[in-house]
Amino acid sequence: MSHEHGPDPLDENAPHGESARPDGPSHADLIDPWTDPRGTYVLEPDDLRSLLARIVVAPGATTRTTHTPFTGGPLAAVPLSTVDDVARAARLARAAQHGWAAVDLAERAAVLLRFHDLVLRDQSDVLDLVQLESGKSRLSAFEEVADVAMVARHYARSGARYLAPRRTPGFAPILTSVRVLRHPVGVVGVISPWNYPFTLSMGDTLPALLAGNAVLLKPDTQTVLTALWGVEQLEAAGLPAGVVQVVVGDGPTIGGAVVDHVDHVSFTGSTATGRTVAARAGERLISASLELGGKNAMYVAEDVDVETAAEGAVRACFSSTGQLCVSVERLYVHEDVADEFVDAFVRRTRALILGADLDYRADVGSLTSAAQLATVTDHVLDALAHGARVLAGGVRRPDLGPLFYEPTVLTDVSREANVFAHETFGPVVSVYRVASDDEAVAAMNEGDLGLNASVWTRDVARGRRLAARVVAGTVNVNEGYAAAWASVAAPQGGARASGLGHRHGAEGIWATTRAQTVALQRGVHGVPGLRSLFPGNPTGVGLGRLYARPGQQVATVFTAALRVMRAMRRA
Ligand code: NAD
Repeated sequence: MSHEHGPDPLDENAPHGESARPDGPSHADLIDPWTDPRGTYVLEPDDLRSLLARIVVAPGATTRTTHTPFTGGPLAAVPLSTVDDVARAARLARAAQHGWAAVDLAERAAVLLRFHDLVLRDQSDVLDLVQLESGKSRLSAFEEVADVAMVARHYARSGARYLAPRRTPGFAPILTSVRVLRHPVGVVGVISPWNYPFTLSMGDTLPALLAGNAVLLKPDTQTVLTALWGVEQLEAAGLPAGVVQVVVGDGPTIGGAVVDHVDHVSFTGSTATGRTVAARAGERLISASLELGGKNAMYVAEDVDVETAAEGAVRACFSSTGQLCVSVERLYVHEDVADEFVDAFVRRTRALILGADLDYRADVGSLTSAAQLATVTDHVLDALAHGARVLAGGVRRPDLGPLFYEPTVLTDVSREANVFAHETFGPVVSVYRVASDDEAVAAMNEGDLGLNASVWTRDVARGRRLAARVVAGTVNVNEGYAAAWASVAAPQGGARASGLGHRHGAEGIWATTRAQTVALQRGVHGVPGLRSLFPGNPTGVGLGRLYARPGQQVATVFTAALRVMRAMRRA
């Protein structure tokens, strides 16, 4: 893949917005850099055409041109689905699901492992796409590759265990045998945002597929190429065509239509949208997993190695340009170590290298959209107006690209400032001093969000104790975010308004299944040996024998049996 820019990629006249598509989705309307000086030659046109042709649209669909945040240059003319297209995609997915569910579980797992291998082998292709669509640094993009590979391996290896029929104690000892089965719900809707386009489109798709579901995927339009690349690799790994259907378009209209047609929805995005999705899913009485926003806090205790903690804090705050749901935006530092820690933290923040290249040289990339840049700028200016001071950053970097903003450290942030309690979702962190663990925990637990938190201390037992007191779905001790997220066998999700339900681990795959309890009553038709000894007498021991007695006797026998079970410590 090459990466060249036209002379003025930010030209106001550069094509954007929606236009009529007379030729259908099979021909992507690429700007050709050889004939059009505004063009940005980023991908082989043929690769792009086959990817975009995967979107379910009717002939003549309108398109929206996406732009790379790095330069503002055009990336792709993305065909947009209509509400009717969503209904058709759902029908296609439903038709393909039955065949897929009938495929041996071992073969479904093998598809995930082959997908794992393809993703690692061809990682440079998807790294380019993730960077070009989101603007993040290559190392942050690589975290997505690593994450998707880990999730694929985990469910391929553990899925059979999670889905196996589970025996539970029956109602009547020996006589009642119970198995809990896990059936696929049918079609799972996956609605994903632009910030982790590979992780969040594939991460929920993989367990849903392993459980035998089809998937109706609606990625954010800005990052659709990355999601489509993932689907292409799934099919290359052996997933039958049609099991994953992709629709694209305006969030409320097309995302809403997805909720209207699926049997479970796995949604990742803002808390505000999550509430809308939950309400719509509630109307249909379908389940929803909601992975929402955060205002994540880190506490640095006085016993830390300052340089180690500062390195971890910089990664936790500025990975993926701070556009990471689990990244840290509030930093509470024990006053005994505050001066030393803040010096190290600010020095390391200032040393971060910003850049827009498709290689590993830069530490931090660009913001993804003008809306993100506006929020970040507003939060910093508003904080300054309320008396905050900037210790690092606080400025745009138009010399690097239209949406670059320097990693920013604020102090003296007032409670009235927007940045105090509202998610910035950008490279901005506020530093506060605290005098004790209790003060730190109280401050971390303020607000109505609770996605991720981080605690730094040399004392492992103290770290565990503090973690248990923090109201957050995940708490990392001596790491910012990666340890909990990458531990894919454990549930990941938000407390309070940061979400409902979980991804990863057993919870992540069970969410896409329907539990069915099958209770078998033994001996109802009589015990074979006894039947020949007492011909003509019923020897069955089913509930019918008991209920044939007068009601008073039934109640007496039952009461005695309950007392015996209590005495036997039966669960
Ligand atoms: P968003 O809620 O605006 O959009 C997310 C997705 O939902 C997009 O695909 C969008 O098109 C779609 N959508 C929008 N309105 C919809 C509606 N009414 N019905 C159905 N779908 C709709 O979020 P965003 O701004 O794209 O993403 C950033 C947010 O996501 C941040 O708040 C961030 O913290 C959060 N996030 C959370 C996690 C997590 O795992 N908890 C991960 C990444 C991002």
